[in-house]
Amino acid sequence: AIPLVIAISTERAASAGILVKSRLALERMRTIDVVLFDKTGTLTKGQPTVTDVVATSTDLTQDDVLALSAAAEADSEHPLAKAVVRKASNRAQLQQASDFQSITGHGVQATVDGHVIAVGGPAMLRAQNLTPTTDLTTATQVWEERGATVLHVIRDGQIVGALALEDDIRVDSAQAVDGLRQRGIRVAMITGDSKAVANAVAHKLGIEEVFAEVLPKDKDGAVVELQNRGLKVAMVGDGVNDAPALARAEVGIAIGAGADVAIESAGVVLASNDPRSVISLISLSKASYRKMT
Ligand code: ADP
Ligand code: MG
Repeated sequence: AIPLVIAISTERAASAGILVKSRLALERMRTIDVVLFDKTGTLTKGQPTVTDVVATSTDLTQDDVLALSAAAEADSEHPLAKAVVRKASNRAQLQQASDFQSITGHGVQATVDGHVIAVGGPAMLRAQNLTPTTDLTTATQVWEERGATVLHVIRDGQIVGALALEDDIRVDSAQAVDGLRQRGIRVAMITGDSKAVANAVAHKLGIEEVFAEVLPKDKDGAVVELQNRGLKVAMVGDGVNDAPALARAEVGIAIGAGADVAIESAGVVLASNDPRSVISLISLSKASYRKMT
């Protein structure tokens, strides 16, 4: 039988929008040293919007760059792709793309109107050995300092433009970070996004430790790295790519609005989607287990 205090705690948690799937997770939560938050969709809303577009090829307008990007991104499920398509569809009719390819952690590639169009982040530029011009870099650095994600648009192996996408930080994220630190718990952030964007978001939230440009397959490695320092880790994430890290951490916490596999891999689900619930979870864990041991 489930001890009464635990049953009551679990019920109290549920009424606060915290679904405790694993009693072990609830028990371990009081001993956590560090909370590792995923950035996109966890500390941020995960709903980026395109805020800027530049065209760097004389034969293309800003609208052309957006339309090409949207055509290439049309079949991608990624939130960045959806934002690009959303921005373009009210401006131009989407062109048909063929040979669509999604390259995890890099971006997408497709053939549009006889040209190979690729849209992606820093990993894609590195993989294709491309360096933006000084002028373009100057523009995109300003975007990144603001915390915007930059995607480059590549046509037949040449950079023809760039897009800035902004994803608002959840209003409750700063309070969650502050509250944890006040309780002596370290806070870290992990993301596949660029170092510049990661640092801008971390700075806004007062997070000191950042793992950036982490490929989906390497996210659980960051958890192991923290564990190797002797720290007990709670990982909070929403994405498919967070699932292995959620499973690896002492406590895996999934955002309720997140992907199914993230929820399956977690011991706790935040139905409220509120990162402050992590603090409530610690309090509940302490209250439940103090009485028993
Ligand atoms: P996270 O959710 O942790 O930020 P992802 O692994 O989903 O990370 O994405 C990491 C990076 O890969 C993005 O910041 C972007 O640069 C690039 N990327 C992924 N998917 C796409 C896409 N559909 N279009 C363009 N870039 C993408
Ligand atoms: Mg995410």
